[in-house]
Amino acid sequence: MAYKPDYVFEGEPAPGETREVAPGVWWLRMPLPFALNHINLWILEDGDGWTIVDTGVQNDEIKACWETIEKKHFTAEKPLKRVIVTHFHPDHVGLAGWLCERHGVELTMTLAEWTQTRMNIFETQESKVAQMMPFYKKAGFDAEQMESVKTRGAYYGRIVSTPPTRFNRVEEHDEIMIDGHAWRVIITEGHALKHACLYCADKKVLISGDQILPRITPNISLQPQEPDLNPLQLFIDSLDKFRDLPADTLVLPSHDWPFQNLLERLDCMAEHHDERLDAALAAITEPATGVDVLNALFKRELDNHQIFFAIGEALAHVHKLMADGKATRTLAANGVYRYQAVGAMESAA
Ligand SMILES: [Zn+2]
Repeated sequence: MAYKPDYVFEGEPAPGETREVAPGVWWLRMPLPFALNHINLWILEDGDGWTIVDTGVQNDEIKACWETIEKKHFTAEKPLKRVIVTHFHPDHVGLAGWLCERHGVELTMTLAEWTQTRMNIFETQESKVAQMMPFYKKAGFDAEQMESVKTRGAYYGRIVSTPPTRFNRVEEHDEIMIDGHAWRVIITEGHALKHACLYCADKKVLISGDQILPRITPNISLQPQEPDLNPLQLFIDSLDKFRDLPADTLVLPSHDWPFQNLLERLDCMAEHHDERLDAALAAITEPATGVDVLNALFKRELDNHQIFFAIGEALAHVHKLMADGKATRTLAANGVYRYQAVGAMESAA
């Protein structure tokens, strides 16, 4: 299905600028030092103060952006009151600890996302590499790729400020009152652990985080931390949680631009993964490694950072095929998993 996002605004705010996109809801855009070069953040008027949703990665450039925004919006009469973070990825939680400490305010997250942030911060190079090595070996990484596992290690703590030792937990269906309006928490899985989206029925506004993006699909990766998970199923199931929202909901995504045709986007994302599942299945007609599936799904050249996203994504699709009874996995004598389509095995027999 050809999907065209129904973008609502022209352009985007420059770093350090803000733009009101719904009454009391302001859009900020910050640079990111990755291939995906920006993130959208939100500040919400909250009675006698402000609430922030998501924070950007920790670096001097983004701290300077926040300092500009602080001067413009956060005054002694109307200070920052609270920081909400959708999930533990560095572009979202990176400056949460810094902002909370600077303003003496509290952090709100789901329990799983806060715990994951704290855990990742204190992970050492040794513990991280020890966790990753067997996972990528079984996926079929060659000697050179295994070297990049060793150098990747514990980068998280470099781009995420230490989050507060206490926080406020939100759970599914909780309502966060902001400026007299209820924002309902919608928890999604598959991209992160318990990613929080926020929906305000009064404003018909959805802060979708990374769960629903208008142009790209969020990374759905099998991770060394939970090597037997089926994250793609969790992600697809989570999409159904948005199907009862009004068709004219304004969606505020963490990347690209605010848009309006949500329901079509949900269908398009589900179709995208169906196509990727078909491609993954075709790649394992003959016994194939995770890296073989990666090479079939990603034709473009991948750098040392992107290859980790790509292998996680390839394995996420193969794991759904296994859970659906369409593929099997065996551990070969060389310690690498081989996947094979079930139908292919039957026809070969
Ligand atoms: Zn994310």
